[in-house]
Amino acid sequence: MTKLIFEKSKMNTTGINLTNENIDFSFINTKYLRNYSDTILPEISELEVMRHYKELSDKNFCIEKGFYPLGSCTMKYNPKVNELLAALDNFCLLHPMQDDSDAQGALKLMYRLQENLKVITGMNAITLQPAAGAHGELCGMMIVKKYFETKGENRKNVIIPDSAHGTNPASAAMCGFNIIEVKSNKKGLVDINELKKVLDNNTAAIMLTNPNTLGLFEENILEISKLVHDAGGLLYYDGANMNAIMGYTNPKLMGFDIVHINLHKTFSTPHGGGGPGAGPIGVVEKLKDYLPIPTIEYDGNKYYRNYNVKHSIGKLKTYYGNFSVLVKAYAYTLLMGKELKDVSTNAVLNANYMMQKLKEYYNLPYDRKCMHEFVLSGDKQKQEGSSTLAIAKRLMDSNFHPPTVYFPLIVHEAIMIEPTESETKERLDDFIDTMILIAKEIEKNPEQVNSHPLSTPVKRVDETLAARKPDLAYKKQ
Ligand SMILES: *Cc1c(COP(=O)(O)O)cnc(C)c1O
Repeated sequence: MTKLIFEKSKMNTTGINLTNENIDFSFINTKYLRNYSDTILPEISELEVMRHYKELSDKNFCIEKGFYPLGSCTMKYNPKVNELLAALDNFCLLHPMQDDSDAQGALKLMYRLQENLKVITGMNAITLQPAAGAHGELCGMMIVKKYFETKGENRKNVIIPDSAHGTNPASAAMCGFNIIEVKSNKKGLVDINELKKVLDNNTAAIMLTNPNTLGLFEENILEISKLVHDAGGLLYYDGANMNAIMGYTNPKLMGFDIVHINLHKTFSTPHGGGGPGAGPIGVVEKLKDYLPIPTIEYDGNKYYRNYNVKHSIGKLKTYYGNFSVLVKAYAYTLLMGKELKDVSTNAVLNANYMMQKLKEYYNLPYDRKCMHEFVLSGDKQKQEGSSTLAIAKRLMDSNFHPPTVYFPLIVHEAIMIEPTESETKERLDDFIDTMILIAKEIEKNPEQVNSHPLSTPVKRVDETLAARKPDLAYKKQ
């Protein structure tokens, strides 16, 4: 068990050899000076500090340490060369307040990334400003709102399928829209008849993910887009999962008007642990003038930030999004080029391979060809006395990050697996074998499986209390 740094502390040990003897602190009002005895800072040597933090970092799970099949999150290989490029002095020492003429390289990079994303999504204009997928959704919904306001229409409803990512209804609600849920049919797709019932002249937009969060492709997407457009509404595409379709189709071909893309998922920039990310959005021609300011433009001679955009929703973020993420994503698009299509091919192949191998051992509620991810159910294991939660915890003891669990909500005991394209067949087989082993362990002795994890620094936590009453501060004994 790692000791806390406070427990390693020994009075008068020091990690630095600066002395304060010659520093005159008399300019500080004594009421602001602390006594030595009430600073409960750890005292520890430099080498021990380094060992302490190395030991802590070794406790983290990361993509470099093992397989990370977290459905909907696309945890894949992030080429290290991207990091080197993002760390170049000319990028990372550039100040965002610098004049456009000093920042031509950075602006050119952003402009070109926009151009690349236009090709990938089929959209007519892109903004790189949103800092995450959900932020992109917010941006998109603000555009929907402003678009109808400008047209003098007061449309209040946003339709969202019950399989949607939770951020979708949250983003639409933040813009003041009413959320209308539309049920999935037996195939796990949007029920067209249900959709027809809720479409009317109050429909501002529908938010869809395609493939949806079950990993299934909406076969009737063209019919859906026609129905929504005929009702005067817009189509918003949650493109967090472009990994599934790049080079095969795009949101424009499916009839969408707005799309966000998670650069930190499909375009490799590492994520997890809360950031940083980037969620650019693309729009069709008629929504171009609604994008947040400044837009990044090129006049044939120089690149510049344009603050003069007719119906702009305004600024969405200070400065211009997470620039270093944009550098990494741009490098990735250049590195891959046309091979982005192979990314999708292999992501879909890997997911189908795993799904076929595992469906004998776990329930597969929607047994159809999947896209880049698939959703199993731990129902059978639940009946045998274990649960999806226990399976997730048990995986940790075999050096696997657990998949996404209990999402999407429409599948009981959901286990959502996304292998991504960047894993080898051997690694996929290793995971498959472990999942099969766990299913067999549960048949024999569910209690034993329920006792995991055994090898992690923290064992079972009280899921509710850990979130509601986190105990994070060191209290001196
Ligand atoms: C990840 C994800 C989001 C949200 O993206 P963030 O960058 O986490 O805000 C939205 N929709 C889908 C389908 C996602 O997978």
